Amino acid sequence: MATSGSTSTFTDADPADVDRLGGKGAGLARMTQQGLRVPPGYVIGTDACRSYLAEGSVPAGLADEVLVRLGELEAATGKAFGGGPVPLLLSVRSGAPVSMPGMMDTVLNLGLDRAAAVALAGATGDARFVADLVARFHAMYAETVLGALDPGAGVAGLVEAVDPAGDAGAAYDRIWSACERELADDTGDSVPDDPRAQLMGAIEAVFRSWNTRRARTYRDHHGIPHDLGTAVVVQAMVFGNLSADSGSGVVFTRNPVTGEPGLFGEYLAHSQGEDVVAGTRTPDPVTEALAPAVLEELRGTCLDLERTHGDVLDVEFTVERSVLYFLQVRSAKRTAEAAVRIAADLASEGLPLAQALGHVTPAQIRQVQRPGFDDAEVERAREGERLLTTGIGACPGQVSGELVLDSDRAKQAADAGRRVVLARPVTSPADLHGMIAAQGIVTATGGSTSHAAVVARALGTTCVVGASEMRVDESARTVTVGGRTLREGDEVSLDGASGELFAGGFTTSTPVAATAALGALLGLAAGASGCEVLSRVTLPADVAAAVQAGASGLVTAVDDVLAATGHLDGLVQSLLGDGATGGVDRIADLVAQEFTPLLRAAGDGEVGVRAIDLVADEARELLQQTAVTTRHPELSVPLGRPALIEAQLAGLARAVEDSGGRAAVHLAVRHVSDPAEARALRVLGQGTGIGVGAYLTSPRGALAAGAVAEAGDVLWLEVRAVQAAVFGLPARQLLTAEPLDGYLAQGMLSCDPRTTIDPSVEVLLAGVAGAASSVPRCRVGLRLSGEVSQEAAAQLHAMGFRRFAVDAAETRPLVLALGRAALGV
Ligand code: ADP
Ligand code: MG
Repeated sequence: MATSGSTSTFTDADPADVDRLGGKGAGLARMTQQGLRVPPGYVIGTDACRSYLAEGSVPAGLADEVLVRLGELEAATGKAFGGGPVPLLLSVRSGAPVSMPGMMDTVLNLGLDRAAAVALAGATGDARFVADLVARFHAMYAETVLGALDPGAGVAGLVEAVDPAGDAGAAYDRIWSACERELADDTGDSVPDDPRAQLMGAIEAVFRSWNTRRARTYRDHHGIPHDLGTAVVVQAMVFGNLSADSGSGVVFTRNPVTGEPGLFGEYLAHSQGEDVVAGTRTPDPVTEALAPAVLEELRGTCLDLERTHGDVLDVEFTVERSVLYFLQVRSAKRTAEAAVRIAADLASEGLPLAQALGHVTPAQIRQVQRPGFDDAEVERAREGERLLTTGIGACPGQVSGELVLDSDRAKQAADAGRRVVLARPVTSPADLHGMIAAQGIVTATGGSTSHAAVVARALGTTCVVGASEMRVDESARTVTVGGRTLREGDEVSLDGASGELFAGGFTTSTPVAATAALGALLGLAAGASGCEVLSRVTLPADVAAAVQAGASGLVTAVDDVLAATGHLDGLVQSLLGDGATGGVDRIADLVAQEFTPLLRAAGDGEVGVRAIDLVADEARELLQQTAVTTRHPELSVPLGRPALIEAQLAGLARAVEDSGGRAAVHLAVRHVSDPAEARALRVLGQGTGIGVGAYLTSPRGALAAGAVAEAGDVLWLEVRAVQAAVFGLPARQLLTAEPLDGYLAQGMLSCDPRTTIDPSVEVLLAGVAGAASSVPRCRVGLRLSGEVSQEAAAQLHAMGFRRFAVDAAETRPLVLALGRAALGV
């Protein structure tokens, strides 16, 4: 029978309607419609959840609709809900439009009353199996719907004692009443024994689970809106705990830690799926534990699914008496390292570039560029017996920090600015705040699909699971491992790739993130964006890394280069001098001397040089700005002392010659805001062989960009400086978290000037973009500082900018962001 309300069956639902069906419901509908073996079921849409949360009660008509669907499920399965000959049991699962793994609630094995238990024992011939289901159901319902803590802890022994061939009714009575007593002592509540009441109770609990503290914390952390609501999936159960040839597992279509192709996952024979996810038993690799025929079917299906979804997937499955059922499919959470490899591999396997670039973010690229331990030191630590144990590497990264044993302390320590490694027997959703606070996480049990592993990967936090030799003693506040006892507060180090836990800290070195696969992917992104990205370098040794990162040119600054090569005193003394030729000649010599090796390293590339700047904030200490400009006020306007510009031009010209004359060099002067200045600069540049141009930092300069560009070979605009000027903030405040993080949190600014181009600045930049197209002989570009957000990159690309200069570490992230922007990702 068709219903018109808020439910739809896996067969009828539109898999594209993720907002309404949630990710889980949509995935199940898609798999069902592809002909995969999915236990039948239906989805209650997110609209019902929103209405429940708004009104505090089940929306009118929903209960009736649930009963109609129940009838359909009975017909589809040939089983009866709450009776025999073969009883229908259900799973009631939450599934939000945005993946929130493990954050909300599921009730399995629902529909067991005494009659159903007896019938099921008759159908399966196994009273102990049924007793296990009764205990599992009671515990899950008590926990999820009634909020009991750790229910059912005392009944495991009773289940073990049930004779498989014995009286199922008596077993049901024993288990149910033991569970009931325990629950009554704990909460004073009881689990309804009427299956229909159980079903409505579970549905309401899933609705409510949208607003639990842990779900809200997760959404806050990931920037997920709070008003989406969750869908509810009601589905016929299949039983991985039925027999030895049954079991359940989770498989990734590629390795989610490294990105390597090939099935990667875990299987636990004779278990229900929750046993795998809970991490309380350590499962086996699917490739070893599954029967060959089942493994082959799984492998083939995963390949097909990957192709139709255009992404690497995380698939939950259950095997019931050697028959494979699919229970969930979703995009796999993956480490940054895996994301990079996967996106590159998928692109080379023929996935459209726009889709492949959608699978890796600038932030992930930053992460694979992050620092790690010094290899030699790690080797010495292994030999010197600092290696305590090796678990399963779940999220790579190399971190040191002080050991903490619970999440509250982890958060307190992190709030106080300390770096911590959180050690737990196992993590649960209640540990989220500690996991966010920690630099690294290590658990004693669980596999690479356990809660700790999945959440750490989503957070990008270094994580090791299944460190089974580790004993965490929460009352003594100690960890015993490898024959040693560590106290809370002791320094430890964790390697999330190798799974190693060390005593003591390490110094960290910076590795290069360059892989051939990433290089190829970024090459495609650069091609798609049509942009040039110039990288900021200071020393000749920086050049190779910038080029390897995909820089199409280099930018540098005279004062930075002289400071980095030990000439700061000489430079300041020259500036403090009387301005006669002795001072500027010295500067020309220093520039020639130090730019020669830099230009030699740059080869035949473009090198943009910024002139000495005595106005900028940053120059205050570096160049003793106050002393210099007090004595020589003319140095605080851009072209106040033409001889200083001439000296830099002369030095650069000599450096070009001495380095072999291949680099294309231009000098840009900061804070120019008037076409007259630009024309004067052009005169200074004439005959030197060095291009010249303005480096705009003010709204006035931006407004004059067209006429300024007319007089130059290049034109740069520093976005941060213009944003700061428009906001009336010191430019350096746009490079740090505080004070702006706190200020924005108070709602004091409608736009974050660090990540978003303010509408007023957009207006200014539109004129600059106009200059870029109307004065083609002048190369117009934007200087971007600090981390460039995807959002800002997209805004600037859409305005027509195609030339950028960034800090060296931002080269790859920006190339990617611009490629994504160009393809509308
Ligand atoms: P989560 O969103 O946390 O992954 P799920 O709704 O997927 O939660 O359910 C948790 C576990 O319950 C899964 O691992 C799955 O294997 C198991 N499960 C869910 N539905 C069924 C079902 N119909 N039959 C058997 N097991 C199920
Ligand atoms: Mg699941």
